Amino acid sequence: METLNTWCRMLYYFVSWEAGIVSELLTKTNMVDGITDTFMPMRTDSVDDELAAHQPCLGESKGKYVLRYLRAVVAWHAAIHVLCRSKSLPELLKNIEIGLVEVPRSPPSVLTLGEISAEFFMRFPHMVRDRQVVLKTLERCYLHKRPHSDSNPNMFFGCIHAEAMLMGLLNYHNRYSAHAGQDVGIQDPQIMQHIVQPVAEAGEAVIAVSKMCCWCCDWLGKNLESQFTLPGTHGVMYPWDPPNVGVSESVLKKLEGELWDQLYEVVLKSVEPFTAGTSLFL
Ligand SMILES: [Zn+2]
Repeated sequence: METLNTWCRMLYYFVSWEAGIVSELLTKTNMVDGITDTFMPMRTDSVDDELAAHQPCLGESKGKYVLRYLRAVVAWHAAIHVLCRSKSLPELLKNIEIGLVEVPRSPPSVLTLGEISAEFFMRFPHMVRDRQVVLKTLERCYLHKRPHSDSNPNMFFGCIHAEAMLMGLLNYHNRYSAHAGQDVGIQDPQIMQHIVQPVAEAGEAVIAVSKMCCWCCDWLGKNLESQFTLPGTHGVMYPWDPPNVGVSESVLKKLEGELWDQLYEVVLKSVEPFTAGTSLFL
């Protein structure tokens, strides 16, 4: 980590160099125009939330794209630089408490395609009449949304998203503070309570994230008992693990139902052309 930090710091000084050499070379010359998609580290079929944020924007030149990517790599150093340069920061930090939350790893596996198909027909039994189209669509969705791993095809590649975890913690201390003594896996409940409780009780909490939220985080923000202000959503679904505190079973069941309904809508779009075709020839 120390070596990575050093290299990033050096890269940061190049990218933010006042002379603007890197920016000029990338945006005002054609030096990266020949770069191909296969060379780019950001693949368009990626299911990773972080990488998807660095897809090329519509109309963005390759030079600007590469510059944006480099700036994202060194963004943490830019943030530290701004904070350390600020004269008013020591005054501002006097009453600010900073906490770092570390969450456990997500479960290692997810449902298999067979299990998803069985559950789908159980929830939407009338879809059995288009069984083959449904199975094909589910398989296509499954392969599209998951990175390939021949050694362990059911491996879960997601995690608990940071904003979801914060919402869970705030909701836990806002709604279930009477049970705060119960063991829910928080390593130091007193310190956590000391930091989170005042924010939770202050009302609508603002969760600042540098990018738009995924579909599930946005849904959670609208469906938990507490009120949150989030940066909005790009509406994309990514592998997502629910926070292990502050989300009741009934909320999780509701989310599960919503996700199955979303899948149903996708499958229905695949089935409809076949159904329309059948009625046309009958
Ligand atoms: Zn998310």
